[in-house]
Amino acid sequence: MSKKIHDSLAELVGHTPLVRLHGYEEKLGLKAHILAKVEYFNPIGSIKDRIVLRIIEEAEKAGKIKPGKTTLVEYTSGNTGIAVSAIGAIKGYKVRIYLQDGVSHERLLVMKAFGADVTKISEVPELQDALAATNNDFVAATNILKQHIRDRQAAGDDIYFVDQMINPLNPVAHHDTTGKEIWEDTEGNVAAVVASVGTAGTIRGIADYIHEKNGGKTKIFAVEPAETDTKLTGIHNFTEVPAERIPPSLKEDGGVTKKVFDEVFVADTDGAFDAARTVAKTDGVLVGNSSGAALWGATIIAKREEFAGKNIVVVFPDTGLRYLSTTLFGE
Ligand code: PMP
Repeated sequence: MSKKIHDSLAELVGHTPLVRLHGYEEKLGLKAHILAKVEYFNPIGSIKDRIVLRIIEEAEKAGKIKPGKTTLVEYTSGNTGIAVSAIGAIKGYKVRIYLQDGVSHERLLVMKAFGADVTKISEVPELQDALAATNNDFVAATNILKQHIRDRQAAGDDIYFVDQMINPLNPVAHHDTTGKEIWEDTEGNVAAVVASVGTAGTIRGIADYIHEKNGGKTKIFAVEPAETDTKLTGIHNFTEVPAERIPPSLKEDGGVTKKVFDEVFVADTDGAFDAARTVAKTDGVLVGNSSGAALWGATIIAKREEFAGKNIVVVFPDTGLRYLSTTLFGE
């Protein structure tokens, strides 16, 4: 029997539903079945609850962090910072989040509501310089931040860098939970999975799990923004960037590995926004712009004859409620 009273919200991470988007399929005349993995059912509201819980729990087991003593630090565009703030609050850690400028204001307020200390990148001169020099590159800024953190650790501060970009537990968490759930909930009947890419933890973990199960029969599709796109937030281009900006989860021999996905789409920004706006109206599923990008990609695939009558899983990382002050749903 499932537990009725939980000891904390941390127990409710994962096990999100797969929901068939009947209304969207009908409106677009699609023959494939589009199954949305609706990650806003996670208790803090996004897919990042999974990786943050796993990273914190493993660090605790390894004795690297202690409640009441260690400060958890992360550099993030939003969802991971929100998850670190809330799970840090649940477990009794201080949290410091370095936030990119331009991220929706409600995200900053949510982190503060959970008690985190939020620092904007523009307030840290070394990071601002790194971003300016690299066209707002996440990986470069993370490297500079890492040095900043190492310096503080050397000075005796008890801080732990969550570091979702290179932490190997990011894809592992998705392998063990997101990928496994997709496989089990479809009973292995999944022709394709579509996910948008930021750190690539999601796509890597899901692909690894499903490949282990059926050796590449399920096709994996990645969606990335154009390198110049500034409207699709939380996700990053990885095919047109220098090698040092390829996320470690997708990198092999200095380039993008061929082992994770079968095809990559560069998202059409308007198409991604339209998909998010449409699915809110057709199915009552209110999601963010990276979900819109994934759904835009899933729609292209769904029109291919080979997927007629088959299940396409599309990952929806977060809720549209986190984008009300942006142009996605704003007036
Ligand atoms: N969508 C949103 C809203 C995100 O915050 C992220 C992570 N930055 C992603 C998609 C991409 O997930 P991943 O980092 O696992 O590739």
